[in-house]
Amino acid sequence: MNPSRRILIVGGVAGGASAAARLRRLDEHAEIVLFERGEHISYANCGLPYYIGGEITEKAALSLQTPEAFRKRYRIDVRVGHEVVSIFTGSKTVLVRNVQTGETLSERYDKLILSPGAEPIRPVGFNSERIFTLRNIPDTFRIRDFIDATKPNTAVVVGGGYIGLERAENLQRLGIETTIVQRSDHVLPPLDFDMACDVHRHLESQGVRLLLNNEVRRVTEKDGTLNVSLKNGELTADMMILSVGVQPDSKLAKDAGLTVDERGCIVVSKNMQTSDPDVYAVGDAVAIVDFVTKRKGFIPLAGPANKQGRVAADHLCGIDSTYTGTQGSAILRVFDMTVATTGVNEQAAKAAGIDYEKSFTWSTSHAGYYPGATNLSIKILFEKPSGKILGAQIVGFDGVDKRCDVLATAIRGGMTVFDLAKLELCYAPPYSSAKDPVNMAGFAAENILTGKVGVFHWHDVDTLKKDDGNVFVDVRTKIEFDNGHIDGFVNIPLDDLRGRLGELDTSKRIFVTCQIGVRGYAAARILSQHGFDVRNLSGGYRLHHSIFGPKTPARSKSFPKPVSVTDSTNTETKTVKVDACGLQCPGPIMKLAAAVNGANSGDIVEISTTDPAFASDIEGFCRRTGNVLIETTSQRGTTVAKIRKGTISGATETPPTGSSETHGKNFIVFSGDLDKAIAAFIMANASAALGRKTSIFFTFWGLNILRKPDGGPVEKDFLGKMFGWMMPKGSTRLPLSKMNWGGLGATMIRMIMKRKNIASLEELIESAKSHGVELVACSMSMDVMGIKQEELIDGVKIGGAAAMLAHAEESDMSLFI
Ligand code: FAD
Repeated sequence: MNPSRRILIVGGVAGGASAAARLRRLDEHAEIVLFERGEHISYANCGLPYYIGGEITEKAALSLQTPEAFRKRYRIDVRVGHEVVSIFTGSKTVLVRNVQTGETLSERYDKLILSPGAEPIRPVGFNSERIFTLRNIPDTFRIRDFIDATKPNTAVVVGGGYIGLERAENLQRLGIETTIVQRSDHVLPPLDFDMACDVHRHLESQGVRLLLNNEVRRVTEKDGTLNVSLKNGELTADMMILSVGVQPDSKLAKDAGLTVDERGCIVVSKNMQTSDPDVYAVGDAVAIVDFVTKRKGFIPLAGPANKQGRVAADHLCGIDSTYTGTQGSAILRVFDMTVATTGVNEQAAKAAGIDYEKSFTWSTSHAGYYPGATNLSIKILFEKPSGKILGAQIVGFDGVDKRCDVLATAIRGGMTVFDLAKLELCYAPPYSSAKDPVNMAGFAAENILTGKVGVFHWHDVDTLKKDDGNVFVDVRTKIEFDNGHIDGFVNIPLDDLRGRLGELDTSKRIFVTCQIGVRGYAAARILSQHGFDVRNLSGGYRLHHSIFGPKTPARSKSFPKPVSVTDSTNTETKTVKVDACGLQCPGPIMKLAAAVNGANSGDIVEISTTDPAFASDIEGFCRRTGNVLIETTSQRGTTVAKIRKGTISGATETPPTGSSETHGKNFIVFSGDLDKAIAAFIMANASAALGRKTSIFFTFWGLNILRKPDGGPVEKDFLGKMFGWMMPKGSTRLPLSKMNWGGLGATMIRMIMKRKNIASLEELIESAKSHGVELVACSMSMDVMGIKQEELIDGVKIGGAAAMLAHAEESDMSLFI
């Protein structure tokens, strides 16, 4: 090696630091100088959001290497606080500025490596001390210090990409109510919309507010509050984090005359050389080839940056290493959910003109009979007719990473879905199934490509329904069908299908569905072998429901408190554990019912389930069956509920649901007048204080009592908007039924009540909620009046006439107000 060789590196984090370390390992004699304009080198960018959220507690943990340690280990001249401001390729020198003193110095190089990274995009006009971007350690401390000092209650994260979601999760974990504003129809752009729907539901269930198809237009600050104007609506927040993407930090390269593309990315060869062969560039600042489509793009990720640093160092030391492209493998934790992607999504496949097909599978993370199995939703894209795997997207709670890594390896190896079906992967019940979810994805895709089954997709359903020549059959059990189905489908359970073939017209095309696609496939095989032209819905009802079903309610922050239950006839109570993980609705409820039936009064039934709907079903189940819900906890996609068989006695808390008594009081509030609302809530509070199970059903004008006065933007049709404008927005704006005098009467009543120390309507509502009064908004009236759930105050359930009648049956009094 040439002892006088001088190699300069610009940027001391992912690409720069790995290039420096590799260089030293290959060339003990070269002089290596690393310039970093910040104070830190080799820090954990990817860990920064978790420091804000408090999961990483040590500041020092964010720096993987100190300049001193790096210097000592690798004998590299690390100069932090030094910014390279110009490159002169002719004289092979750079101009370096000492950030603290402003002093500049010219430095000679034989070879130069650039790894300046990417910088966050900051839209013009977004200037306030309450608005942040996050790129490095100082940004992180700034955000954390602001939160510690001002204790914000609300935050807006602009942008729903990977980093935006990490930030939102970490803010929400700190108890800051967080809203994500996302321009497109789904979060996480590498995912397709259909796979993002489960993520939307999960975010919302964790209390994050999601505004899709929306964008922030303008922000102003007044009295410590940010007023945010959106494309649709407005909102206020105590702080904002901008996460609208990054752009290559390539000005230095461009000014030096190195070739950059239209996006500003530095153009490099497969050896990472720029247009000047003595200058290399790596990491987020370079244009990189997409491994699948072979198109050049901008894919800023840590893994590629590190690998490119290694390739540049190799090449500079005479090793012919090449960088063969990035496939965008990425993974993210969204609270306890995991989302991973590799390869291309549908948008990229279409843009590249690839003829592809897709399949959706839903498998358990390990053997369903072994405790703790949770579900994985896998989508793969594959080329037609070769079956070459193009991309994979996985959403689940356990084992997502290893499945996506297997698929990433398969893509890198140029494998096909036929190969996936053959892969022999590790199996024992706690880890996987004899047919791993990756094998299952391969089987499903192979069946499509070999013509064993034709498929249709969730987005085809509406179009197909318009054709009279099509028949739609749901082959799930009757109980599943009754629990929810796609409009227009008739129910013929799979086990009855052979006996009921005569009901189907052979001249028509049959479109079948089941819960996840497996029974639909079996049905399709039966039907096609009896001469029917048949297609199976890929992903089944579950996927369709995830996309089109009603929103998942936010998980209650406080679960019902334990109540004391005694049963003098059963002195030896036992706990019966039921594992319903991996079962779909109504499987868990049916298993629970069987266990409760078999238990003695006073016994506890503890059920674990991975069915996302279970947490909301269990309360109704207990209420209807007169059992007591002791507690519900959720973690990593598994809900555990404890139910005591029997009725309550000596309960010190508000009487919970589950009481089979019929002394409840049922109020139906039709009116939106202030005086009538006050009367209703006074009576409801009194009833709750007497220990009576109390519910108020709000219908038509009564719904206005429940509207949030400062509800954020909600998408509505024209009529919905008209109604929204004309009706009073919340309890504080209600008129009096008589002597309203343009609102003066209502103000006077409020003043008189205050003077006489009578609780205001708002206090009465809060008191009713805290005493367990159930507030139910009529779903039909909401629909008619264009009122959305997001517009209602917290703690309101949505119900129909059946819910009101159920309350009436449990009550000895119903009042219509
Ligand atoms: P960087 O690591 O950004 O380093 C560039 C360095 O160059 C900077 O320190 C900068 O100060 C310095 N510099 C720039 N210009 C000059 C100059 N003229 N003179 C001197 N110094 C200069 N990727 C993942 O794969 N997974 C993740 O989970 C993940 N999470 C992330 C979370 C956050 C909050 C952020 C910001 C990024 C995350 N990334 C993640 C992206 C990942 O960090 C980047 O892809 C990677 O760091 C890029 O490496 P790089 O060397 O190109 O640039």
